[in-house]
Amino acid sequence: SFSSSNPKICVVGSGPAGFYTAQHLLKDVEVDIYERLPVPFGLVRFGVAPDHPEVKNVINTFTQTASHARCNFYGNVNVGKDVSIDELRRAYHAIVLSYGAEGNRSMGVPGENLPGVYSAKDFVGWYNGLPSCRELTPDLSCDTAVILGQGNVALDVARILLAPTKMLKSTDITQPALDALAQSRVRRVLIVGRRGPLQIACTIKELREMVNLPDCRPEMVAADFEGVSEALKDVPRPRKRLTELMLKTALETPGEKEQERRSKASRSWGFRFFRSPVEVLASGGRAAGIRLAVNRLEGSGDGAQAVLTGEVEDVPCGLVISSIGYRSLPIDESVPFDSRRAVIPNSMGRVQQAAGLYCSGWVKTGPTGVIATTMNNSFDTARSLLEDMDSGALDVSSTRPGSQSISALLAERGVKAVTFSGWEKIDDVETRRGEVSGKPREKLLTVQEMLQVGRD
Ligand code: FAD
Repeated sequence: SFSSSNPKICVVGSGPAGFYTAQHLLKDVEVDIYERLPVPFGLVRFGVAPDHPEVKNVINTFTQTASHARCNFYGNVNVGKDVSIDELRRAYHAIVLSYGAEGNRSMGVPGENLPGVYSAKDFVGWYNGLPSCRELTPDLSCDTAVILGQGNVALDVARILLAPTKMLKSTDITQPALDALAQSRVRRVLIVGRRGPLQIACTIKELREMVNLPDCRPEMVAADFEGVSEALKDVPRPRKRLTELMLKTALETPGEKEQERRSKASRSWGFRFFRSPVEVLASGGRAAGIRLAVNRLEGSGDGAQAVLTGEVEDVPCGLVISSIGYRSLPIDESVPFDSRRAVIPNSMGRVQQAAGLYCSGWVKTGPTGVIATTMNNSFDTARSLLEDMDSGALDVSSTRPGSQSISALLAERGVKAVTFSGWEKIDDVETRRGEVSGKPREKLLTVQEMLQVGRD
């Protein structure tokens, strides 16, 4: 329907970065989105906590983008494996790499591969139905869990571990995870950070959710907050409010009602500051505790450094979850990759030394920032690309075959792409399965099932 001389762009990855980049580009060009999984939306589906349904409303915008006449979605296509970047380069005028951060930063301590130790990425993937994490089935038979890291992902994990089942049962959490959590014996979650209260990386919404979690009381170490309220006058407002809530929770004697609530609570959570993991301790071949080094801070504010004191402390726990960050991985030898920073080196989304290649989202910036941040940096990338088209820096004068040639290659290789209408069938089945149990959806849990339902 469109003349073959239309500029043809492809986007790799269908998370927020892929969709927001496409949205901005669609004003002027044709956009094909290639996604490794049969289903779209990246971390909005497989990362965002099930009890944060409002965050997932962005899916409505992405669905509008996908229904644009100049936009096509091809799920179940693993770029770098099913089709190479060079093949995409020959088929399109430009490629935007928006494939996120699917790797993991590891703790690098002895014992981190013991049974009972998980990355937050896998744990989150498990309760959110990421097919590759379906068999994680974490052992939740212990009393205490230790989470390493104090960002929002760490707090998501803590909340899911401690939330009453009745709070989760009407969310889109997977049924196996819900069943496992209902049987969980975990009663205490410690959330460990290298530095102090003034350096914590979570935001106030997530902290407030912990403070208000039903049947759960906070257990902080008052000494950790020495000097904190004095330092408050010099910090920016969002951190000030966050810190004030922590101080209130840790130090103030609550009113009668809250006191009663806390004394009746069967579960507890707390931050442990100034601690770094040294070793996961084993017993009977599985995690039984963690040895933490005690740090002190040098300097103050965001730039404060954790310095070892030489002291260590052992904390018994049967579950260790490391939440110290995601990490982007190289996709294809032909794409520059900065392995130290784990990002694609770029300026304003233009991949360095690679004309026709662009990047957006976490693979561009590193794995930090909320969806709104990802949206802005994706719009920036789209703007760079359109500028290059206008200036002639990106040559779009020749005709490119676009998805036609790629579809032929995929067919040759036996790869069955799932289109957006295929996804809509999956969505339908999931939504209907959810209705039965009062959930917004009951996710399909294997790629095989997704392909079966999503085929055209
Ligand atoms: P992703 O969302 O990871 O998307 C990347 C996509 O690329 C994926 O679909 C992936 O399957 C695909 N892909 C990977 N490799 C390939 C390949 N080789 N070929 C084709 N496709 C590929 N933000 C909020 O605003 N609110 C929240 O509540 C919130 N909760 C979060 C909870 C967790 C656990 C995490 C990790 C993040 C959360 N965020 C939240 C942040 C938000 O998810 C990110 O800002 C955003 O998802 C980053 O977008 P992205 O598109 O760069 O990456």
